[in-house]
Amino acid sequence: MYTFEHVATLQTCLQKLKSKGQIIGFCPTMGALHEGHMSLIAASQSACDSTVCSIFVNPTQFNDKEDLIKYPRPFEEDYRMLKSKACDILFAPTTDEVYPPGLDTSIKVDLGGMKSVMEGKFRPGHFDGMLEVVHRLLQIVKPDQLFMGQKDYQQQTLVRAMIRQLELPVTLVTCPIIREADGLAMSSRNRLLEPEFRAKAPLIYQCLSWIKAHMDSKSPREMQMECIERLETAGLKAEYLSFADGVDLREVHDISRHEEVVVCTAVWAGKVRLIDNIILK
Ligand code: AMP
Repeated sequence: MYTFEHVATLQTCLQKLKSKGQIIGFCPTMGALHEGHMSLIAASQSACDSTVCSIFVNPTQFNDKEDLIKYPRPFEEDYRMLKSKACDILFAPTTDEVYPPGLDTSIKVDLGGMKSVMEGKFRPGHFDGMLEVVHRLLQIVKPDQLFMGQKDYQQQTLVRAMIRQLELPVTLVTCPIIREADGLAMSSRNRLLEPEFRAKAPLIYQCLSWIKAHMDSKSPREMQMECIERLETAGLKAEYLSFADGVDLREVHDISRHEEVVVCTAVWAGKVRLIDNIILK
């Protein structure tokens, strides 16, 4: 596996691969890798000739300084994991490589209400930072295909909209959520969970699955109330649990009126904030 810290050397290597006609797949991550990330790498490997994984904990998408400080950074472990999966290229840049002083990396996209609901409502500025870094990384890597997880449903929706609006020459592939055996969605933040909350956290997916099983007999409002209460009784705190249109993220009151519907939630498990979602249709 080639490892690069600098944009220039990464690009020299990519240039060589592209000149041979290779299709390049790209999986951007913030590290603390797990099987969810590995599923993106595997999807890229099966669709592309070479796979680039980036590890960059992007400061501009953290609205909470404490969250940025405590974000896990087990680089050696990540390196070994990528190598064992035969990832072709690891790009692990410093902040100055991604945001060189003097370079304007800001982007102009109008994503309307999609950016201000759910995560956008509770993490102000998060999506501006996320879109900025994904755009910048796409500029650096110039992949043919971009692999992201359904785990961050709103994120992949916004990236899809950005790609369309800016006519970026890349195809976004969204990969399914990989879960622990007990249903908890894999996340880098899971390793920060205290044992008591790790034991409670599978309830999040149990609630989402319960919603999917009852979507024909109960209203979104009823299901939302019941789940929030169930979580609260167990000592978990739902920041939001929203029924959203799967395409434009508008709030859903009547499931039958939408072609695609997703339920997204953010839940505090002690001091750790977890997100998860389930596609209803
Ligand atoms: P992160 O390192 O959290 O920024 O995530 C990097 C990429 O991995 C994003 O596209 C995530 O949606 C994806 N991802 C994170 N967790 C999972 C999971 N459990 N299953 C599938 N993809 C995931």
